[in-house]
Amino acid sequence: MKALVTGGAGFIGSHLCDYLVAQGHQVTVLDDLSTGSEENLRQLADAPNFEFVKGSILDAALVDDLVGSCDTVFHLAAAVGVHTIVDRPLESLRVNLHGTETVVDAAARHGARIMVASTSEVYGKNDADGLTEDADRILGSPLKSRWSYAAAKGLDELVAYVYGRETGIPTVITRFFNIVGPRQTGRYGMVVPRFVGQALAGEPITVYGDGTQRRCFGSVFDVVPAVVKLMDTPAAYNRAVNLGGMEEVSIRGLAERVIELTGSSSTIEYIPYEKAYGEGYEDMRRRMPDTSLAKELIGYEPTRRLDDIIN
Ligand code: NAD
Repeated sequence: MKALVTGGAGFIGSHLCDYLVAQGHQVTVLDDLSTGSEENLRQLADAPNFEFVKGSILDAALVDDLVGSCDTVFHLAAAVGVHTIVDRPLESLRVNLHGTETVVDAAARHGARIMVASTSEVYGKNDADGLTEDADRILGSPLKSRWSYAAAKGLDELVAYVYGRETGIPTVITRFFNIVGPRQTGRYGMVVPRFVGQALAGEPITVYGDGTQRRCFGSVFDVVPAVVKLMDTPAAYNRAVNLGGMEEVSIRGLAERVIELTGSSSTIEYIPYEKAYGEGYEDMRRRMPDTSLAKELIGYEPTRRLDDIIN
């Protein structure tokens, strides 16, 4: 395979590059290093089948050039993290909407297979008793910048789907659910690295909201091979596939486990959502993937438990 990995200097992308390079594939990364880092790819610097290109997915000529010399595109580049989205909504939208269309369009013109990274956030809050038609509501929430990421990713899925249908290029959409592992940074609001950093520094662990919201955390080491397998599975083409872990934990429970596993003396501090993210912020109470489609398509069975992931 000749693969282009957009966002390859990021957390998931760099692990994907490790995996592809180890399998002998030719890998090129396109990343603007906005949240990623070349440090994440240092171990690949001397590999003959690896190349890093610093640039943006918004640069259509560059994207066209790189996609043209590949047969497979893993599109992971995106503006990510709640802090990024809330602080810089316009820039995030540009990257997540226009950037994706640029990459998918190039893949279609060059006949390359493409995986588009999406998110569990496209399910929205999903806890309403009844749906209303208020013009400012999508995804079950007022259309505030908090949801611009989900809205853009939802449109990314549509772009991938429509291009796949109309041009015949194989497309796979992966909906990641809270993926964690080494190299993930807590700087942009990712909860596990943030808690671990606070615990190791002996600082209070800051839980946003009351901590009863529940999540499932998936290991990057389970998800990366699954992404590659899906790309080789025609039955997955033009489908959206959930990928994540199945062990559910409350955010308060997560903080307690981090304290226990790190042997930290940190306390837990609860911060109202409005204070952490600004007025009107909303979150999902529960987010748990049904991964039976991934199981059916590729035999996906996440093996890492939360304690292994934290360790
Ligand atoms: P990350 O921030 O580590 O990776 C994103 C990468 O994209 C970074 O290296 C960043 O520098 C790069 N990038 C951003 N804008 C760019 C641009 N204009 N041009 C080129 N590169 C650009 O985040 P991640 O967690 O590895 O996420 C990877 C993908 O998976 C993203 O599409 C994200 O939306 C999706 N995702 C991740 C999770 C998760 O739990 N980690 C959950 C849902 C979806």
